[in-house]
Amino acid sequence: MGERMEIIEKAPAKINLGLDVLHKRSDGYHELEMVMSSVDLADRLTIEEIAEDKIIIETNRAFLPVDERNHVYQAAMLVKERYKINQGIKVSIKKSIPVAAGLGGGSTDCAAALRGLNRLWNLGLSLEELAAMGMEVGTDVPYCVYGKTALITGKGEKVFPIPDMPQCWVVLVKPRMSVSTGKVFNEVDMNEIHHPNISELKSAIYANDYTRMTQAVGNSLEAITIKRHPIIQQIKDRMLKYGADATLMSGSGPTVYALCQQYSRAQRIYNGLKGFCDEVYIVRTLK
Ligand code: ATP
Repeated sequence: MGERMEIIEKAPAKINLGLDVLHKRSDGYHELEMVMSSVDLADRLTIEEIAEDKIIIETNRAFLPVDERNHVYQAAMLVKERYKINQGIKVSIKKSIPVAAGLGGGSTDCAAALRGLNRLWNLGLSLEELAAMGMEVGTDVPYCVYGKTALITGKGEKVFPIPDMPQCWVVLVKPRMSVSTGKVFNEVDMNEIHHPNISELKSAIYANDYTRMTQAVGNSLEAITIKRHPIIQQIKDRMLKYGADATLMSGSGPTVYALCQQYSRAQRIYNGLKGFCDEVYIVRTLK
């Protein structure tokens, strides 16, 4: 019997620096324009080959599904079927990213599985090819295949890597409730929605201008989720009070983040929010 391989793949969380809802499309999806960046809060996938030809998922979060509903399972099915691979695998997902938080946890796990299996089985697939497969699992997966800083358009399938965002500290605060992305999009009213200036945000990043970037971050969905969950506004107010340069909700929420340049400032924000919410993290942007 040959030696069975085992590999480890990191799956970083993302934050939205920008999220604009341009219009509702005839297929029911919203046309989006987003800027996302990876942060160093990451899940870790260990993929190993097993004797039987099946897919086994394990995770340290008991409430997560480990069957066909898990995005990693779906990624493995796709790869196995498309490339006719009869080798079974076990994937252990060590989750650190909060679930249903707006941090892209399930999508980044899926993307990591695609990258990992490409490596494990020497499939030689490009990131473009992996991203196209990922789109079949979820609209945020193509971005997660690339990671780092990128401009994303369409419903998520068009990913354009851009220069790394100016490096800084990110304080993440995840309030207790979880938010359904679908519900938030259902509440979008195109006549009322706020449009952040994504092209200004993009040029600030190209210029590596931290201050300009902090002035240009924005999320069309923030006001919608705040209406339902006013705690998000309270978190933002507190973050500003403790010295954040910018605060924004990520994705459809409910996670809110603060940006700052000095670690001492990040700690101040962390301490100011820790008593208010259970889940608070200080992370670094990823290059
Ligand atoms: P996004 O920002 O892309 O909307 P999110 O961070 O809000 O994502 P996820 O953490 O991806 O949300 O979780 C959304 C749902 O996906 C969960 O309710 C969960 O049951 C399901 N799911 C499937 N596979 C996974 C996985 N590997 N990790 C986390 N959630 C998963």
